[in-house]
Order: sequence, then structure tokens, then C-alpha cells
Amino acid sequence: MVRAVVGANWGDEGKGKITDMLASDADIVIRFQGGSNAGHTIINDYGKFALHLLPSGVFNPNTTCIIGNGVALNIPKLFEEINDIVSKGVPNPNILVSDRAQILMPYHVLFDTCEEARLAGKSFGSTKSGIAPFYSDKYAKIGIQVNELFDDEVLKERVEKICVLKNCMLVNLYNQPPLVPEELMDTLHQYRDMVAPYVCDVSLYLHNAIKEGKNILLEGQLGSLKDPDFGIYPMVTSSHTLAAYGALGAGIPPYEITNITTVVKAYSSAVGGGAFVSEIFGEEADELRRRGGDAGEFGATTGRPRRMGWFDCVASRYGCRVQGTTEAVLTVLDVLGYLDEIPVCVGYEIDGEVVRDFPATALLEKAKPVLKVMPGWKCDIRGIKKYEDLPEACRNYVEFIEKELEVPIRMVSNGPRRDEIIYR
Ligand code: GDP
Repeated sequence: MVRAVVGANWGDEGKGKITDMLASDADIVIRFQGGSNAGHTIINDYGKFALHLLPSGVFNPNTTCIIGNGVALNIPKLFEEINDIVSKGVPNPNILVSDRAQILMPYHVLFDTCEEARLAGKSFGSTKSGIAPFYSDKYAKIGIQVNELFDDEVLKERVEKICVLKNCMLVNLYNQPPLVPEELMDTLHQYRDMVAPYVCDVSLYLHNAIKEGKNILLEGQLGSLKDPDFGIYPMVTSSHTLAAYGALGAGIPPYEITNITTVVKAYSSAVGGGAFVSEIFGEEADELRRRGGDAGEFGATTGRPRRMGWFDCVASRYGCRVQGTTEAVLTVLDVLGYLDEIPVCVGYEIDGEVVRDFPATALLEKAKPVLKVMPGWKCDIRGIKKYEDLPEACRNYVEFIEKELEVPIRMVSNGPRRDEIIYR
């Protein structure tokens, strides 16, 4: 059985916690897109961890963790993360890296940084992890696949071609010293030696695992609204964040993904620029950010303060739809316990008309939120294990959202810890 765990919103929905929880009976967890540009925060018996590139299954000794071909593979970062968790007492994880994954190079980070500086106030708010230059190169066919590390002739030819193109921009646009092919070759040789023990024909491995009936989890990063096609383009990420891409980014047939578990946050938060219709500001936002604690304040990778907003039915219903959600998980519900009344955004007013369907970017920029106010429950719901034991106003909030999402909410998360989950 293959299940994808993905986000309905702008990221930071709490996918890491849900994946870590579901990984306890998964044989395999795979990252299929993105790189070390976002993070999952996980709190479990070993402590608190911010994972960026490692799949959230690394804490389970029986789980094989895979970096799929769709990922932007930053080899030094991968090893930094492995060393970090092992130094904190986590058993050495079983890791496989796809022989078709491409390598994120230091010059990708350099280009990302130079371009953000060049754009200055008009920048994308990139994390400067090299993700956009990496995926641009992949599709321009000047990337380097892991399997190519083992053929020096191919590698040398590729590196020379890359240097000609890159140096043109580095020297003339960014006023930087040019790349030196021999230095890139040295870096690639180091990467080859680091990654060699983990390289695997992942698609074949998964083909066999599926035949054997293994339990497989695809772990998404960010959320629907950051997808390059279906998100708030151009303020999006550079790889697909939708479950459909799980098939391509891991190397499995699309029809094998039978369960799509979409994580939905009980209020809105976003890192980076772009339209955010239900956004709130000032003291109201500061309070929600403070109450959110780890879930509210800062992005796990960027450390940037998150933008805050009320739950957005329009964006979240769309977010669930484009994922192909079979079940939703509502997270961080506990954080809302302080509010007398909880506004939710139920429609967008665009040019005097109210719509329920999430529009493309040009119209989205004009949208104003239509709010409905729900009564709060005014208590701490952490520690509650049964759905029936939640206060009535809290159940009403969940059930209202479920109706709006048009998909079943099967789990409600009421705290950051693995065991703080209510099944319905
Ligand atoms: P991800 O990228 O979707 O995995 O999300 P992040 O890890 O960036 O952000 C989720 C944050 O919320 C983390 O700090 C989690 O520990 C925390 N978290 C997850 N679920 C809950 C929950 O139900 N309640 C609270 N209070 N925090 C949660």
C-alpha cells in the first residue's frame, strides 16, 4: 500500500509529525521532491529535531528511508543531518539514495543568493538553498545525476559545459569570480565517495517492495499552494508539491498511490511572499503567532517569522482537491483554545462578487476575505484522546471545516507530540 502525506496549505501544516507517527508501521518512507529548503519539526522520544532532507521515517529502525529521484540532493547537508541525529542517540538510519537523483551543487546556492541580492526588494524571498537554480538546470539538462558521479569522462564533459554557461552569468551579471572546472571535479569526487554506499536503483527497489506488499509512505514538503502549477505562481517553490508528483519523484506507477493523506492546519500561516487572503496583522497576528509556539513562530529551515491568518476554507478546499485527498488530518487545533470567537474565511470577494473556488494568481491578488465567526471553546484540549471528549464548540469547528473541505477529517492533532492525536 502506498500512502502520500502532503500539505493542503502553504507548508508548515505539521506533515513531519504525521509522517513520523505513520512511519511507525511503514517499511519505507520516501522524499520525492524539494530539498533542504523547508523543514519538518519532529518531537519524539529521542528529542526535538528539525529535518530538512531526511525523510521523517529516520527514527524508526525498521524503516528504510529513501531520497527519491525528484529531490534536490545536497550531499553535505544530508550527511550533516545523519550525523546530527546519530549524535543525539538515534540508531544509524537505513538510507537509500536514487541513482537518478540530481546533485545540488554549491554554485546553485551561489546563484540563488546572487539573484535574490540582484532582485533586492522584489525578490521571491528564497531560502537561498539553491532550489530554483537546481531545478532550472535539471530541466535545462545541465544537471548531474548521482549515477554520473561514477563516470569521470561523462562528468568532466558535463562540468566543462556547465562552467561555460554559468561563468557567463557569474562574471557579467553578478560580478563574481568564475567557476573552475577542476575545483568542481574535486567537489564531485568528494560527493561520490560520500554517497557511494547508499546509491540504489530506487524505482526497481520500489517495484519489488510494492509486489511484496510493503507499506510505503511518500513524504511531501510544503503544500498545494506552493506548487509551481497549482500554487500562487510565481511565489511558489520549484518542484511539485502534489501527491501526483510522488509517482514521478519516487519512480512508481501513479495508480499505486491509493491513500492521499492531506494535512490541513486549523488556522493559516505562510512563509514568504504572495497573496494570502485571510492574513491578519498587528496584535491579533502576534498573539496567534505567540500561542502557536513552535507551530506558529518561525519556519523550521528559514527561521523567518510566519505570516498568520484565519482558517481559509476556499484555499484549503482547493488545496485538498488538487492533492486528490482521500482523508484529511486537521492539525494544531489546540492552539486556538484561547479565542472567544474564531473567524474563518468562507469566500473571496473579487470585483464585488463572492466566490468559493480558489482563483488563479491574477484574480487572487484582488480577493478580499468573507469571514464567518465561530464560537471558541476557551480551554486547553491537549491531553484529550477521544473525539467525543472535545468541547462541543471545538467539535463544531472541526465538523464545519470538514463540510467545507468536502473530504473526511480522519485525525485531529491536538499537540506537537507523536501521541497527541485523536482518531475519528
Ligand atoms: P511541516 O513542514 O508540515 O512538517 O510542518 P513544520 O514542522 O514546519 O511545522 C509544524 C509545527 O507544528 C512543528 O513545530 C510541530 O512540532 C508543530 N505541531 C504539529 N502538530 C501540532 C499540533 O497538533 N499542535 C501543536 N501545538 N503543534 C503542532
